[in-house]
Amino acid sequence: MSIAYEPTIGLEVHAQLNTCTKLFCRCSTDYGAPPNDNICPTCLGLPGALPSPNRQAVELAIRAGRALHCTIRGKSVFARKNYFYPDLPKGYQISQFELPLCEDGHVDIEVGGETRRIRIQRIHMEEDAAKNIHGAGQTGTTWVDYNRACTPLIEIVTHPDLRNADETEAYLKKLREILMFTQVNDGNLEEGSFRCDANVSIKPVGREELGTRAELKNINSFKFVKKAIDFEIVRQEALISGGGTVVQETRGWSEGDGKTFSMRTKEEAHDYRYFPDPDLPPLVVTEDQVARVESELPELPEAKRARWQTELGLTEYDAVVLTGHPVLATYLEDTVAALQAELNGDLKKVGKKVANFLQGEVLQHVKTDGLHGEVPVPPGGLAELLVLVENATINGKIAKDVVVEMIETGRGAKAIVEKRGLAQVTDTGAIQSEIDAIVAAHPKEVEAYRCGKENLIGFFVGQVMKATKGKANPKVVNELLRASLKG
Ligand code: ADP
Ligand code: MG
Ligand code: ZN
Repeated sequence: MSIAYEPTIGLEVHAQLNTCTKLFCRCSTDYGAPPNDNICPTCLGLPGALPSPNRQAVELAIRAGRALHCTIRGKSVFARKNYFYPDLPKGYQISQFELPLCEDGHVDIEVGGETRRIRIQRIHMEEDAAKNIHGAGQTGTTWVDYNRACTPLIEIVTHPDLRNADETEAYLKKLREILMFTQVNDGNLEEGSFRCDANVSIKPVGREELGTRAELKNINSFKFVKKAIDFEIVRQEALISGGGTVVQETRGWSEGDGKTFSMRTKEEAHDYRYFPDPDLPPLVVTEDQVARVESELPELPEAKRARWQTELGLTEYDAVVLTGHPVLATYLEDTVAALQAELNGDLKKVGKKVANFLQGEVLQHVKTDGLHGEVPVPPGGLAELLVLVENATINGKIAKDVVVEMIETGRGAKAIVEKRGLAQVTDTGAIQSEIDAIVAAHPKEVEAYRCGKENLIGFFVGQVMKATKGKANPKVVNELLRASLKG
């Protein structure tokens, strides 16, 4: 009889803190700079240079900690993690080990209708290593770019609470969203500012004790993380079922082969000879500071989605789409506020109008890059356009053309409508004379309509709209047409 196994997954996420300067010096963290431009004696580890912590980085780490429901330690300690590799100029990385800044938090995820709490063990601060570029130049040697050395990171470590690839993806997406909405991290997987290591093991179903884990390193897309986890679960099952044992090791993911591969056996903590960094005093954070940082936390996307559904009349789908990026979420709220200031109507109707128009006509033109994003029409401009629709100056179809022109020219809705004479024709006399002409020109259709083919109304509306270049008020057209067609 074959034994059934269940997987266990724990995640370590490295997120770059959204600061302008490095963790222990004043060098720029600019991603696109030419190699080895953003360096100084401190981040190069030259003798005599001393580190000095970046206050903004510490506050962002506290912000992440509180957004993830962690306890913030009043006194945490920077420690040296020693290993030798060219990407570490000092021969050690400044990290936190025994006394991390944040502990005991959680993220609630929803998968398949079930809510699960994923516990966060710790969040500690550390500096990034430099970047090795292997096989570079004509000789294929390794080059090192020290721009990234000493960039501020937090490492967010979960308990082994995840049970499969889908839960892992849900956790990662939720975590990324929280870090982006709090402006802690720009969420950029490709540029490596949000990186994830997944620890995967399996054990016989129901057994308490966890199996030996493999650590899947540095996989830069959610899709690949899922694939790598699924592959790893199958690999470990086959290995154990065949009488083998899983060895604790670090593995990479080859997208080309669709396989994980062994990179190196896993180091244990004692291999790193951690000890408190004598150059840095303990990091002291007061309760007041934590309270202030916490009071500055913005509303998180999950709370926004719930509020938008009850207050602004959005569907869950709308709410999910429009919290897709912080810039978009702010835009929706600003536009709703601007439109509501003009209309002073039912907030649910106003919210729904903005959400619909935004998704239908504007979303496709929105560009985002990390935490930055650009919506090509200002919130007040979109509100101005929607007021014109609301007071029947233009109809919805014309509004779609107007917004395109607003985007192309940067001009306002009213100006465009006036200049191009797009204002809706509500003059019943003018519309009636068009209708009379159309009714006269289509005797067969009129006859069919009167014999019961009532859906021909669409055909007549179309004709009137064509004759008025889309400017006739559809409601007036409908009323007048029905009266005329009755005969
Ligand atoms: P490190 O990988 O740096 O040695 P830890 O031993 O603290 O650090 O574990 C890191 C991550 O591995 C945590 O997210 C933890 O939940 C997870 N983990 C630990 N043991 C297992 C296991 N047997 N199976 C799956 N995940 C595990
Ligand atoms: Mg690890
Ligand atoms: Zn520097």
